[in-house]
Amino acid sequence: MLQTAITPFSNKLTSPLTKRGISVLQINLGKRCNLACTHCHVEAGPKRTEELSPEICEQLITLIHKFPEIQIVDLTGGAPEMNYGFKQLVAAAKATGKQVIVRSNLTIYFVEGFGDLPESFAKNQIRVVASLPCYLADNVDKMRGTGVFDESIKALQWLNQLGYGKDPSLIVDLVFNPQLPSSEKFSLAPEQTNLERDYKVFLKEHFGIVFNNLFTITNLPVGRTKLHLERKKLYASYLQFLESKFNANTIEHLMCRDELSIDYLGNVYDCDFNQMMNLPAKTANGETLTVTKLLEADSLDLISEVQTAAYCYGCTAGCGSSCGGALV
Ligand code: SF4
Ligand code: SF4
Repeated sequence: MLQTAITPFSNKLTSPLTKRGISVLQINLGKRCNLACTHCHVEAGPKRTEELSPEICEQLITLIHKFPEIQIVDLTGGAPEMNYGFKQLVAAAKATGKQVIVRSNLTIYFVEGFGDLPESFAKNQIRVVASLPCYLADNVDKMRGTGVFDESIKALQWLNQLGYGKDPSLIVDLVFNPQLPSSEKFSLAPEQTNLERDYKVFLKEHFGIVFNNLFTITNLPVGRTKLHLERKKLYASYLQFLESKFNANTIEHLMCRDELSIDYLGNVYDCDFNQMMNLPAKTANGETLTVTKLLEADSLDLISEVQTAAYCYGCTAGCGSSCGGALV
């Protein structure tokens, strides 16, 4: 592919990317995870130790109680369940009537000490969003580690037995992301509705599994995906590919417009990707934000403009991409 410069993402915008009212609080509890997937934008793994502290957890609980406009508390990591504060944050969100999402890798339920998670999720009506990047074992194991597909299947069957995917109050969604490219034959995720239908047919027929929604997510060149692309000398061409697929209709729906993303140290970002790339959210005066500052100001609406970078092309390519799947 011809090497041309990437157009700065901000040049594609016809008006500044402003924040709307905040309705989603996404908390990244830390980098501890029982897996170490090749595409992980968090670079999480069993050897990582960074996690929420009791002090920041307390501040987040105060934040959850204080702001009724937060409708969804979205817990991610690492494996959020392994990191300090998971149970406390779930309890605070439930006590204030908010929806709780856990971004679960499913295999954690088979790690000693975590076997009670599925029952506890069902009891608290936690929405489970689980990565299953393919319905074929080889592809999943290549990306996530040997045996991960089989454990994911067992975990989904377990969730189904508890009513997930059947009872309207027990939602389990799956996440698809494409295999990492090894040549310049780049592609975006297949169309979400069609792929969801294929997943549903295959998983029901072969494993008796039912689930609610499939979310297709583009691999953003961040974290291990970025390292992989750099190793293969594909980083610049992948960004160019994403830019060539820019779809202006996605801008209205970008997840960063409605959410705050918090790291384990209590710093505030516009999204989890910016968090991983150390691009903090800023006030109109250029000040960075922390949970402490939000509490002191008694407001979640201190950010006028979302901070963007070249990897934002991943969210705006084709049908768009977000933690909730395609955008248009
Ligand atoms: S992608 Fe998810 S399950 Fe895999 S290492 Fe990263 S945080 Fe863990
Ligand atoms: S990476 Fe995506 S969600 Fe994050 S700021 Fe860029 S466009 Fe928004």
